[in-house]
Order: sequence, then C-alpha cells, then structure tokens
Amino acid sequence: MTSTVPFVSNGVANGNGKNDNIADHLQPGELDQLQVEVADKVRDLLRSLVIDIDNDHNTHETAERVAKMYLQEVFKGRYHQQPKVASFPNVKQLDEIYTVGPITVRSACSHHLVPIMGNCWIGIKPGARGIGLSKFTRVADWVFSRPHIQEEAVMILADEIEKLCEPQGLGIIIKAQHYCMKWRGVKEPQTSMVNSVVRGDFRHDPSLKQEFFELVRQQEALLST
Ligand SMILES: [Zn+2]
Repeated sequence: MTSTVPFVSNGVANGNGKNDNIADHLQPGELDQLQVEVADKVRDLLRSLVIDIDNDHNTHETAERVAKMYLQEVFKGRYHQQPKVASFPNVKQLDEIYTVGPITVRSACSHHLVPIMGNCWIGIKPGARGIGLSKFTRVADWVFSRPHIQEEAVMILADEIEKLCEPQGLGIIIKAQHYCMKWRGVKEPQTSMVNSVVRGDFRHDPSLKQEFFELVRQQEALLST
C-alpha cells in the first residue's frame, strides 16, 4: 500500500482481515494527514472520471468534502475511539428482558460504498452490569459508521455490547434498505433485508427468544399508531 501516513504504510492496521476500529494505531496528527491524502486520491478519481473539477465550480472542493465525510462522519467508526460508555452494577439483580429500539443505523455497503439505512432493535437479559439506554444508540452508530455487509455488522455490534455489559442474553434485529439495490443493480426500491443474532439465554431458551421477537413486534406496532 502506498501512503505517506506511517501507520498505514507500515501495515499496522492491515492484514487482520477485520473491520474493526484502528484508533489505537493512530498517532496524533495522522488522521489529519490521512484526510489530506484521501482528498488527493479522490481528486485523482474525479479526474479519471473526467469530471472537470478545475472549471466546474460545484465540484471544485468535492475531494476535500468527500475525504472529510469518510474520515470524520460516515466511516468514523473505523478511525475514532468508541464513545465513552460507563457501565454500572446490576445491584437489584434484574433478570427480566427489555428491548431498545428502533435505533437508526446508517452504513455503507463494503462492495459499492453506497448507503445502507435502517433500524435496529436490541434485547437484553441483564447480567452483572448494565449501561444507559442511550449508550446502545451511540455504540450502534459507532459500529455501523464503517463499510459493512449487514450480516457481519450485526455480529460486530453484538460483540461490542457483550463486552460492555456482559448480558445473560442478547438479541439484535436489523432491518435495512440497501441503496445497492435501490439506486443501482436491480433497482428495487422497496426491498429490505432483515437479520438477527441471538446469544446466551436467547439462543438456548426458545421462549425467551420468542419473547424478544414479540417485544420488538410491539415496538414496531407503536410506530404505526
Ligand atoms: Zn453494494
């Protein structure tokens, strides 16, 4: 890989085959350096696409905007540290399940880098520790702000939530629309993809899993009232 940014050129952040966060590898100033480099390469891409960035005033600064958008916004979950999430002990030893949702998720498909937009529901059977409800939204946003395929994104989110609050049971459902299918390809505007992951007691106890899906159904019904 050709890069002027040391952590990229020395391969520290590559070779593991994972779509994880690389913030710990970045030295101060390297993200800014990377943004300049990405802008340079987007400029080259636009020129190869024969978009007249020198004379068309609308695309004059597009390369800088696109670089900033990827590194600071839509792919921030790759480069920026996870939002701080404090966990607290489950003093009353609550063990009834609860669900949080819908949480808006936004990502981009790894294959074409076009948007994936959807909703996520998270179900928890509490374990030794808990986290605040809003933290699920922050962690989901951080995980999804990377290029993804939906089937893997849900697993990565499940791993992060398990690390944060070690639930006895965890369920996640994602329903998303893929601009890969809406904007290009088969151009099918209404199709969505739904997938889920269940872990711990949700996986081993069918009635608990059923309860999770039923609670999500009720939350969805609330949306249409
Ligand atoms: Zn795609």
